[in-house]
Amino acid sequence: MSNDNKSSIHEFDFNLICEYFSNVERQGPGSPEVTIKALSFIDNLTNESRIADLGCGTGGQTMVLAQHAPGHITGIDLFSTFIDLFNLNADKQNLRDRVEGVVGSMDNLHFREEELDLIWSEGAIYNIGFEKGLKEWRKFLKMGGYIAVSEATWFTEERPAEIDEFWMDAYPEIDTIPNKVAQMQKAGYIPVTTFILPENCWTDNFFSPQVVVQDAFLKKYPGNITVEEFVKYARLEVELYSKYKEYYGYVFYIGKKL
Ligand code: SAH
Repeated sequence: MSNDNKSSIHEFDFNLICEYFSNVERQGPGSPEVTIKALSFIDNLTNESRIADLGCGTGGQTMVLAQHAPGHITGIDLFSTFIDLFNLNADKQNLRDRVEGVVGSMDNLHFREEELDLIWSEGAIYNIGFEKGLKEWRKFLKMGGYIAVSEATWFTEERPAEIDEFWMDAYPEIDTIPNKVAQMQKAGYIPVTTFILPENCWTDNFFSPQVVVQDAFLKKYPGNITVEEFVKYARLEVELYSKYKEYYGYVFYIGKKL
């Protein structure tokens, strides 16, 4: 296989994933209630505040954030398709004067040092890694500024091999709540709070909306192995969650810069 072929297959994967997730409101587990709950622990915001939402996707949580917090929010995502939809969503909700989506990577941010009052990131910090993200993003926060991220987490010290193997392959940095809190502390934040996202954040808000998209995708790309594999993986995630949800889930971690 030539390199050209490889890169075009890669390109298709990205385009496919973008197209798939552009059809759902959220690209990760979450809910408006959870965003509002996390926000209730942040007490430093004013109309002048600068907020960044990293790995914002199409902005489901950003718009909730904007409706419940003052200040200016910059959403950053790697994919321009998501950012286009993000800005469209901000337009629709008359938030464009305070909410702006920009294409960029969370490992190469262009904020000034100590520019931000709040860094938000739901279901996305895994792309850079929890520890690395906490350490690298810290410089962009003012003293006393907050970081609020949600992250895949083990609830127990031990778990069945099947789910352990799945996560070791998907995201080996998954860890227990106390270990992640210790990482937050060591990265230079006061751990303000953690809370577990309720099940409906996965089932009703993340998995259910994908069912229609999966059927439509299989119809649109008949016999396409990449599509079939992708949908198979998405369905496996649902099956594993229902089987092992007492062992893992998403947890919100909120920290304050020391
Ligand atoms: N926060 C959204 C999306 C979570 S999915 C929600 O909760 O619904 C993870 C997001 O991270 C995707 O939108 C993906 O495009 C984005 N992403 C992946 N790698 C990235 C990177 N290096 N920099 C910025 N965004 C990235």
